[in-house]
Amino acid sequence: MKVHTFDLQFLGTPQAIAAFLLEVDNTSILVETGPYSSIAQLESALMAAGKRPESLNAVLITHIHLDHAGAAWYFAQKGIPVYMHPLGAPHMADPSKLLHSAQRIYGNQMEALWGTLKPIPQALIHTVSHGEELLIGNCRLRAWHTPGHAIHHVAWQVEDTIFTGDVAGVRIGGGLVVPPCPPPDIDVEAWDQSIEILRKQSPKQLILTHFGAYSDVDYHLQELQERLHAWADWMRPYAETDRPAHEIVSLFQDFVHQELRAAGLNEQAIARYEAANPSFMSVAGLLRYWKKKLEKQKN
Ligand SMILES: [Zn+2]
Repeated sequence: MKVHTFDLQFLGTPQAIAAFLLEVDNTSILVETGPYSSIAQLESALMAAGKRPESLNAVLITHIHLDHAGAAWYFAQKGIPVYMHPLGAPHMADPSKLLHSAQRIYGNQMEALWGTLKPIPQALIHTVSHGEELLIGNCRLRAWHTPGHAIHHVAWQVEDTIFTGDVAGVRIGGGLVVPPCPPPDIDVEAWDQSIEILRKQSPKQLILTHFGAYSDVDYHLQELQERLHAWADWMRPYAETDRPAHEIVSLFQDFVHQELRAAGLNEQAIARYEAANPSFMSVAGLLRYWKKKLEKQKN
């Protein structure tokens, strides 16, 4: 098998968002599509690899967040089947809810950041169960339901490589492994279990959408898990105060950027982390996680 990593140069930022062309014999599968706003980069990368969008056998998305799946509808319009988690399917068939919640976060930046989102016809939506084995052309794959970052998350395994979407975190240029924690699904306990699912497959390589392939799998997953808990612990006291969100964001950003600086990253590298995994999103996601959890404990 061969994997091409396409840098979608999201908003002009290198190594923030990737899509992947997976080739097994004469079978070509696109893993992740990025947002529709970077479709031109994706198409020219596909062309450079000798593939027209029409010639793909399938598109796989790890989850329906717009930076991973925002351009999936474009390939569906060309008749390519799109594989996903069953909980993501209704929102790809009718993206109105997804658009609405993105609009609430991004306001009038929506179009500039993510571009258009159109429905995918039901007939082209293929859902997968946990542990399901698929044969697409000559490519044998396994789907792992891996919630924690999002309830509609699938990690795709081919041989001993796993395309991890966001469940194995964000790591750019070999730097720190950080957990992207946007609302509304962050669930630390579920994420721990998903990390365990990844470990159990003993993969030799993890391929991250943000960004690229890593083969120090044990170290990587350990770092991710420790930082996930450290971030969640940092956030917990703020879930019990009514401190305004923008103040928490600025404190959290200082905390994260200090960690990145301490690991030797320069300001440009830190900006890439911020583009791939904005601090304000992780604050919103982790606060929501704690508020839900604390509310449950009260009742
Ligand atoms: Zn995501």
